[in-house]
Amino acid sequence: MSSLKERKVAARQTTSSRDVEWVPSICNFCSTVCNVRVGVKTIDGKKTAVKIEGNPNSPLNRGKTCARGQAGLRQTYDAQRLTIPLIRVSGSKRGEWNFRPASWEEAYGYVMSKLEEHQVRPWEMSMVGGWTSCVFYMPLALSFVFSTGIPNIVASPMQQCVAAGHFGNDLVTGNFNFHDEVLADFENAKYILLSMTNSGVAAASTSRLVRFAEAKKRGAKVVVLDPRLSETAAKADEWLPIKPGTDGAFFLALIHIMLRKDLYDEEFLIKHTNMPFLALENQGMVVPLMESDEQGFPTSFRVLDRISGEVRQLPGYSNTNAVDKEGKNLVPALEVPPGFTLDGHKVKTIFQYMLEQTAKFTPAWAEQETGLPAATIERIALEFGQTRPALVDPGWHGARYENILNTRRLQAVLQALVGGFDTPGGWLMSGEYHEKLLAFLKAKQEGKEVPVLSLPGLQFPLTAAGKFFNPAEWSHGHPSFAMAKSMADKAEGKPGVIFPAFSDYGLEEAVEGKLMFNGEPYRIKALLMNAANPVRHFYPDTRWKNILTHPNMGLVVAIDIVPSDTAAYADVILPNQNYIERDEPFLYGAGPATDLALTTRFSAVEPQPQTKGTADILFEFAIGFGALDKFMETISAFSGYDLAEIKEEVGKATNGEQTFTQAIRSVSFKHHARNLGLTPDQLEKTLREKGVLVVEAKEKLMEHAAICRQLPVPTPSGRIEIYSLLLAGFVRQEGYRINWDPGLVYMPPALNQEKKPDEFFFTYGKTPTVSYASTNSNNPILMALSKAKEDEFMGLWIHPQRASLLNIMTGDTVTVENCLSGQKVQINAFVTEMIRPDTVFMSSSFGTENPLLKYSSGVGTALNRLVPYQVEPIVSAFKTQEFTVRVTK
Ligand code: SF4
Repeated sequence: MSSLKERKVAARQTTSSRDVEWVPSICNFCSTVCNVRVGVKTIDGKKTAVKIEGNPNSPLNRGKTCARGQAGLRQTYDAQRLTIPLIRVSGSKRGEWNFRPASWEEAYGYVMSKLEEHQVRPWEMSMVGGWTSCVFYMPLALSFVFSTGIPNIVASPMQQCVAAGHFGNDLVTGNFNFHDEVLADFENAKYILLSMTNSGVAAASTSRLVRFAEAKKRGAKVVVLDPRLSETAAKADEWLPIKPGTDGAFFLALIHIMLRKDLYDEEFLIKHTNMPFLALENQGMVVPLMESDEQGFPTSFRVLDRISGEVRQLPGYSNTNAVDKEGKNLVPALEVPPGFTLDGHKVKTIFQYMLEQTAKFTPAWAEQETGLPAATIERIALEFGQTRPALVDPGWHGARYENILNTRRLQAVLQALVGGFDTPGGWLMSGEYHEKLLAFLKAKQEGKEVPVLSLPGLQFPLTAAGKFFNPAEWSHGHPSFAMAKSMADKAEGKPGVIFPAFSDYGLEEAVEGKLMFNGEPYRIKALLMNAANPVRHFYPDTRWKNILTHPNMGLVVAIDIVPSDTAAYADVILPNQNYIERDEPFLYGAGPATDLALTTRFSAVEPQPQTKGTADILFEFAIGFGALDKFMETISAFSGYDLAEIKEEVGKATNGEQTFTQAIRSVSFKHHARNLGLTPDQLEKTLREKGVLVVEAKEKLMEHAAICRQLPVPTPSGRIEIYSLLLAGFVRQEGYRINWDPGLVYMPPALNQEKKPDEFFFTYGKTPTVSYASTNSNNPILMALSKAKEDEFMGLWIHPQRASLLNIMTGDTVTVENCLSGQKVQINAFVTEMIRPDTVFMSSSFGTENPLLKYSSGVGTALNRLVPYQVEPIVSAFKTQEFTVRVTK
């Protein structure tokens, strides 16, 4: 009998036989965006996709895919696919699947007539997008809304992930989207700490998993904080079942010990962070001694030079504290002598203030908060602080508790203490991020503008989202409804949300006519949704069902591939090409790959005849809105593409000689080919052959563009900000609130600690087989895999101690009631010791409703039926676990 290895080789040879053509593509089953190749055979005269596998040339996923990536093949041939435009049958209600087929012309005509009928003005529309829209269509979506005057985009990744959670890390490092910008270098780390994440390495990211597997092979120690024994925790050397929502307390105790026992990278802290900056205390707040320009950007900081004993001025924006404003070398002191004064004021370094702030966060204190033994916490702190390279995983999904931004910020501080940025075993920034940062710094030096989409890290959301918040950016004078809601809140003395970027905050009020702006109702009457499924992904489902079915909602348009739960609430459904069918309109960076690389998709099989790509749909809407010229100009302004080339190519699309996708793709190829010194044909040939073009390898990039050590980061000061200047700005703007304390503070989760026997803390997470209800739930292969582990993947995890008290056994149907909101769901129990006795867990990606989703409809329980609408006040991140639940049989 042949070995497993021989059989695998034989299978590969069979599928790699000469009649299979391999076409490079990018997986679309999760936002990891792995490079894949699609095996295509001609069957009965028709090109048919027969296999998807990882692209071996990929510096990102290194030839591997997960189960979802391979099963993606089935989406193309899903019998339930949307294949023709659909218009709601007159008299039927949104939510009912009652549509009639239509031509594209009729569907567009219907949309325009409804906009006219309901007199929808530009600010009364909103786009709604899922992660596919963000990752692949942001250049077009942003250009579309600015050219048509629509100041509203609701993007599901923001309140779940990119703003929720990531923004906490960003405040320290100056990044924006950790999915796309940062790859934790697990394989070179010797100590790995993971908190509040299973998805990064176990359920949703092949690129992370391949590196994590290497780390395990090389013997790195892995410690996982998680109330349940997740797939990641099961692979750890130590599973620490922490009390939900208290990870911040754990981090603070680690910081407490590492600062006191000198377990930090002193040189890094001195040179590249704001720890040595001099500061004073003013009304209980720590305030750095700094000067700023008229726009509030810092122009200088002060430090005490260890060598000369003088107070010296540092530049406002720099990667290093080793050179002062006059260009002279210095070595800033981390601590000043007791009683040190400057201009009659007592001053200390930020480092000294941080020592004082963390004095109370002892391991004994953390034991009370986290439920983990103080001795364990202390030991982990010593191990983490003494091992190099040590790495704390930056995390993934963020929507959890009001303290999430603070918690993620604390973990970034921990990473800063060990100096682990752009170094082996640390947080590695992507090649594309380096490229953007280099171009930004060059432009800054030359006093030139950088196109919005090329801005690195935090510079991008501060500029792009800032436009949505500023009424003066729009000819009609309306900011986004989310900012209008925040302004209205503040006028009523409520906190509002400081930075509600691409958020649904205030949408329900706007639809109901309850949101006021400048003395008039700010209404939302029409939604244009692309690859979005808010009925399943936003909280709670009833809020979005109310938004979509409200009589004031004049028009709902859904662009989608499958009949999602949300598509059932549309008036018009526009069928979308799927990812293996389409050429992409752009060339992209290869996700968070640390090499600087370019990639794109190539159409592997003929699209369904009546489907269209999102780019072409937006193009046709731009024509319908009379905004095509402005659309082209905005694409050029935002992306830096040549306007004359755009006009020439789009002109051919207008004449019907090519599609809009082909037009923009052609411009994109010309743009990148020019930068690379290639012809567009040469670039296309390489990408068609390899799928990925490595422009500059990581090792080369590190020679001249290592973040911090060579380049400043996009924080206000250019340094790693352990004291957050952005949060300090929020204090000045909004007054003090612990959420935006710029120092090191603890925010306990708002959870009832005196629970009755049937009351539990609540957690949820992704499964490795189905992680995104929008793209991979209705897949027969993935559903079969999920059902093989039905209890574990779809059940409510409950500890045997508590289950026996409540007379609950595995397989019993139980009712879970939200103690805060009263929402109830039914779910089968999974009794297991793999969870803390005071906590229950369920998966987040089941429970779809539309019966047309043959494989997933009615399977499992939908998370968003249990979670109420609660958001925190900085970015309106969802607070999806800030409640307890009652479990009854
Ligand atoms: S991790 Fe899996 S689903 Fe996600 S992009 Fe990669 S192969 Fe696709």
